[in-house]
Amino acid sequence: MSNSKDLANDFKSGGVYSCPVCRQGQISEMPLMEAVACNFCRHIFTVDSRQQSLKMADSSQPLSWRWNGRRWQNATRNDAELGWGVGLAAIALVILPTSLIALSAYIFPPIPGSSLSWVPLFWMGLTFLSHLAFVVSVVVEYYQFPVFAYLQAMRRRLFHSS
Ligand SMILES: [Zn+2]
Repeated sequence: MSNSKDLANDFKSGGVYSCPVCRQGQISEMPLMEAVACNFCRHIFTVDSRQQSLKMADSSQPLSWRWNGRRWQNATRNDAELGWGVGLAAIALVILPTSLIALSAYIFPPIPGSSLSWVPLFWMGLTFLSHLAFVVSVVVEYYQFPVFAYLQAMRRRLFHSS
């Protein structure tokens, strides 16, 4: 009865799936457990086969993903992917304020040798970094990309692979 529904985009136990966290390793079933684990970042997930979703078991954050037939998708949201328009807006959000300040520094250059001549450059860098940080944080939040889990896994691979 439970095997009668065999859609192509179903998440099947025993199949090979990439890890939704690090996107580097593969998840496989743990013996004697109702869970799967990643062979790269070693995170453990519980499988909800009825909802076709994975839930991170060893995280305080309620992270879960749904298999859409090709890859894992954020299960807490049904929105489409961020389109190129959003990407363009994100780039504009970083570039525009920075270039505005660069332009004003170009039009009204500081007096060379004055004690405050570093201010426009510093202000430009600060503007660029703060806007970039804002955009990155929005993207990370949207995709529920666990930055620290990913960095940890990368570090483990770098130092323990050889
Ligand atoms: Zn992983």
